[in-house]
Amino acid sequence: MAKGANKFSPTNCVRAPARNESIPSVSGTYALALHLPRAKNLRVGKFGRFYFPRGDYVYVGSAFGSGGLRARLARHTRKNKRAHWHIDYLRAHAALRQVIFTTAPRAMECEWSHRLSACADAGIPVAKFGAMDCRSKCAAHLIAFPRGITSSQLRERLDDGAGQISNLSCL
Ligand SMILES: [Zn+2]
Repeated sequence: MAKGANKFSPTNCVRAPARNESIPSVSGTYALALHLPRAKNLRVGKFGRFYFPRGDYVYVGSAFGSGGLRARLARHTRKNKRAHWHIDYLRAHAALRQVIFTTAPRAMECEWSHRLSACADAGIPVAKFGAMDCRSKCAAHLIAFPRGITSSQLRERLDDGAGQISNLSCL
């Protein structure tokens, strides 16, 4: 089996803050690959309480504010923090296994969300999760893969072959 075909390995985790030096502080779009080791009933702020089955999840977002990708991804890397976004509530219980990003000059999370949710094995655990302000009719910006998704499958699914995510990186 090719190395990239393995299940997420801990070496793909963004753990030490020092690793964030490899993330540019420019704007961009990112995908977080998360693993929830056991099913959880979680409160997601004022949004409500929802059931999250055990398995893999991919959250898509973009950082076009100050600090760019580096600051945003550093925040997602930290597990303990004051919850602000929907994803923060899930992140507190899930392991961050991989981060993929692109520095393409336009936000691509909706395109990535559509691409991922079109997969036969994908599910939407909570309608509109992370996508309350989304104008692209995304079902959600959090997509569940109950049977798991490998790091190479994720990269393949985000890559449209048009070179738009040529800066895609796996940490
Ligand atoms: Zn969207």
